[in-house]
Order: sequence, then C-alpha cells, then structure tokens
Amino acid sequence: MEDMNDFKPPFCPNPGCAEHWHGNSDPYEAYQSWGSFTTRAFGEVSRFRCKACGRTFSVQTFQVNYWLKRVHDYDDLAERLSSCSSIRAIGRALKVAGKSVQNRIGRAARQVLAFESRLSSSRKPAEDLASDGFESFCVSQFYPNNIHLLVGSASQFVYECDHATLRRKGRMTVAQRGRRAKLDLLFRPDPRAVEKSFCRVAGACLSVLSDGGRPSLTLWTDEKLDYPRGIARSACASALREQGRLVHRTVSSRKARTLANPLFPANYLDREIRKDLHEHVRETVCFGRDVNAQMERMTLYLFYHNYRKRHRTRGDGRSHAEVAGLDSDEMRKEMGTLWRERAWYSRTVLTESGQETWMRLRRTPLRKIAEYRQLHIAA
Ligand SMILES: [Zn+2]
Repeated sequence: MEDMNDFKPPFCPNPGCAEHWHGNSDPYEAYQSWGSFTTRAFGEVSRFRCKACGRTFSVQTFQVNYWLKRVHDYDDLAERLSSCSSIRAIGRALKVAGKSVQNRIGRAARQVLAFESRLSSSRKPAEDLASDGFESFCVSQFYPNNIHLLVGSASQFVYECDHATLRRKGRMTVAQRGRRAKLDLLFRPDPRAVEKSFCRVAGACLSVLSDGGRPSLTLWTDEKLDYPRGIARSACASALREQGRLVHRTVSSRKARTLANPLFPANYLDREIRKDLHEHVRETVCFGRDVNAQMERMTLYLFYHNYRKRHRTRGDGRSHAEVAGLDSDEMRKEMGTLWRERAWYSRTVLTESGQETWMRLRRTPLRKIAEYRQLHIAA
C-alpha cells in the first residue's frame, strides 16, 4: 500500500457536499488534518475533516477495503467464482464464512460496474449484437428467471445483463399446481417482466450504436414476442428502429446451434455460464437464494469472461474486451486501480440494470421485508 502520510484526499466523501465533485484538473483543498487512529491491518491511519461540510474521513474511506480488516485478492476471488467453485468451497479455501465471501463478491461487483462505466467512454464497438435470456432460477424452481445477456457478435463481449423473475409455467403435477397457487398469493412475478427487461437491453443497444459511431446496428434474437414488445416499449429504440438504424432480426430457436447461427454468441455464453458458475450448473443442489446476490455473482463472472478469459478463436491471446475494440492502454490503466480505489455510486454513470445491481434493488421472491442495505453502497 502507498504511504498513507502522503495521501491527499481527492474529494469530500459526502455526496451531499459541493466539495464531492472535484476531479484531477480541479484538486480538492477544503480539508484539514484531523488526527489519526491505529488499526491492526493498516497501522497508523490519518484522519481529515472537510471544511465545507464538517464530515471526517480517512485514507481508508477511499479504498476498496476501507472497513475490512483484511486485504483480499479480488482477482483470485473472481477466478475461483468463475471456475465453478461454490461459495462454501471458496469460504473453506479462504478460511472465511460464506456470508463474508458473498459480501466481498458484492463489493467486487460494484468495483466492476464502475470500472466498466469508466471504460465505456473510450470504446468503439464495430460489431452487431445477439441477445437471449439465460434461464435459471432463484429461491426455488417455482421462480425461474431469465438473465438477458447482450453479446457482441464478433467478440462475445457481454455489453449488458439484466434480470427478470418469471412465473413457473409448463408441465406440472396437480400437487405442483396447488403449490404454485399458494405461492402466487405471496409473490407473483410481473407478467411483463421479460418485456420490461428487454426494453432495458434495447437501451444498451443504443449506447453500443452511438459509441461505435456506425450508421446502423443489427440485433439478433430468437422469435420470442416479448423482444419486439420490449423494443417498442423504449421510445428511443423504437424511433431508431423506424429510421432503420437499429435493425432487429430473428432466428428460430430450433435452428442448429452452430457457429453459423447468428445467435451463436448468446448460445456460447449460455454454455460457458452453465459450465463455469456453480449455481447455474444443471441439476445442482446449490442454487441462488437472493436475486441481488445472484446478480452480483453474474457481474463478477462477466468481468472475468470479458477481461480475463482469452477469446475462443484468436491465437493472439486477446481478451473478449480487446476483440470488442476497447482501448488496451485505457484498460491497463483502469485495471491498475480496479481493486484499490473505492468506486462511488454518486460518481458513476450506470445503466438502469447496473443501478439495480449496485443498490440491490431487485426483489427476491418470498422475501417480505426490504432487506437491510449497507449504507456505504449508497455513497
Ligand atoms: Zn464536504
């Protein structure tokens, strides 16, 4: 860790203070030294006080591990999670409780969301897109879900993921129907969940289109009717579709799942997730029990997929992100501080889905009371 005595706070940590918005070109000066305290993990830590709002803080306020007692290797965590280790197995390996593992995954997911947001300002994607819903479940088989993934056709880079909880459908025994009727009284998923989720995915297509600066973009999906409805639900997306700038094309989900299939990128991700993320392996006994935690794990997994894994067919060892045209120098620079400098919600531009993941806003079926949200994630 860098010498804490040389530390200059970059801005006031209070999002309600005018001094919160300083950047590199406009350094923060309205603070004073405010003593120090000693911790076992970090030694002596200097304190500061904002002269504008009176908030006190320390160097740790600006670090990822700012209140954890132990520094942890988040890359190692991402790799374990993405190599089909269960939370319990990760806990055993790291000698911490499962709850503590999930807590770190949540923090890592927020770091990743901010990292991706910073990088997206320098990306120039030049590819078409494919999207499909990854089918899994949370809490019980009575609550299937679709995790919509927006994937680059050439790069298999995942630009967006969004979550929709569904009502169980299909063949059921009489007893299962009875059980579902009872559960419906406690929690009934939104019948338009897929359409609404896909509306957000369509919004993400538009930013890929504008970042790439191309005249038009094709989005491939299967023939599910919720998809055109989702696009129509977004005023911007449907306007661009009218102008022929966003072209939505469909292909039957029964078509052979080969490389030539325009949905190959989505099918490929489906297979990878099924093999790499423990909770989504078929017939697993270990499944998600909290929608927000499930999306935090997915976010960290997709980071691993996008930035750490090598692209399937390229011999040059490039990551999916590099194939998608993200700036390599920018990426290296951001990687250097990814697990060190704490990400701030107030200072991060997020998609709607990103906001829901960061703030843990999604509802988990059958959970009655709004769960306790840690205050620090809201800063
Ligand atoms: Zn302040």
